[in-house]
Amino acid sequence: MNQPFLPFALPEIGEEEIAEVVDTLRSGWVTTGPKAKRFEQAFVDFLGDPSLEAIAVNSATAGLHLALEAVGVGPGDEVITTTHTFTATAEVVRYLGADVKLVDIDPATLNIDPKAIEAAITPRSKAIMPVHYAGLAADMPAILEIARRHGLKVIEDAAHALPTTVGGALVGTLGSDATVFSFYANKTITTGEGGMLVTRDKALAARAKVMRLHGMSRDAFDRFTATVPSWYYEIVAPGFKYNLTDIAAALGLHQLKRLPAFQQRREALAARMNEGLGGLPLVLPPQPGVGATHAWHLYVVRLADGAGVERDRFIEKLYAAGIGCSVHYIPLHLHPYWKERYGLTPAQFPHSQHAFERMVSLPLYTRMTDADADRVVAAVRWALHG
Ligand SMILES: *Cc1c(COP(=O)(O)O)cnc(C)c1O
Repeated sequence: MNQPFLPFALPEIGEEEIAEVVDTLRSGWVTTGPKAKRFEQAFVDFLGDPSLEAIAVNSATAGLHLALEAVGVGPGDEVITTTHTFTATAEVVRYLGADVKLVDIDPATLNIDPKAIEAAITPRSKAIMPVHYAGLAADMPAILEIARRHGLKVIEDAAHALPTTVGGALVGTLGSDATVFSFYANKTITTGEGGMLVTRDKALAARAKVMRLHGMSRDAFDRFTATVPSWYYEIVAPGFKYNLTDIAAALGLHQLKRLPAFQQRREALAARMNEGLGGLPLVLPPQPGVGATHAWHLYVVRLADGAGVERDRFIEKLYAAGIGCSVHYIPLHLHPYWKERYGLTPAQFPHSQHAFERMVSLPLYTRMTDADADRVVAAVRWALHG
């Protein structure tokens, strides 16, 4: 094994991003300002729907919190989401004093199961938070229909879903109340840390903007650029500190330009891995249907029954072969906080539990070469048969 270790994920930051950050550093304005505004506009342009508003925030977690706050989630309410996600999806519900109702997934797609959502609805239900797991869209037509029928809000956790389409339409334009994207280091584009809340609802957007910055009626850049005395502002709520810096937005402007090329590269790598891993005792990632685009944030395989190797041992062997890998996610129902808070057991989530026990996320990112993908394939073959 004389090849260097292949990390599980790496960001792709180019000279244009670096130059833009340097320009920001020299400009005299490093916090939220002109570049954050440009990034928001560029994001709306990318989604291709001028009726949308994009609100840049310092993480997707912040964006999800703001969206739930803006639709009025609070104590006594319940929010339904999937157990098969990162804790950020659910923790924001607890920030607001509301309760989380975790539900199981569809084993074919690993996405939240609309039937399980329907079964979890109570008079306290306020909102549904689908997660587009790995970058494959959840069943949004079914989820939006359930929400309409029961008068529930829908906030999409689209941390994996840039760009994801379903029925030819991009996630972000599907008609939920709000959609939140992540620009964390390992996501499909990155600003180091960052996120974007997208909505067509003007009142939701207005509330999220105020709450993004301390509940202030005017932001600092607005006051700084005013040509009349502009020291005055009002605090209208106890808000948060969730604004995105211009340093981060500088990265985002160029990452977004590169997104179509990034997407093509991820698709090509996924296709190469699918091909190379065919015929093995593995369940390969679910493929997008007609008119759908998979963002390929994650490439998740499951060991088939009869694979002859346990998941943990399989990961050890991949590491021994120089391949970084991960597990997305340890389902929320297994974590002490969620388990104890709601008295959860694996038997309540048979599909998520079954998938968790067998799944591994393999490396898939734009800086990987075809040879890197082939190395992953070879290592998987060896780990299964060696
Ligand atoms: C990454 C991620 C988040 C959180 O994103 P941040 O930008 O790090 O706050 C939320 N949900 C899911 C499913 C994620 O993968």
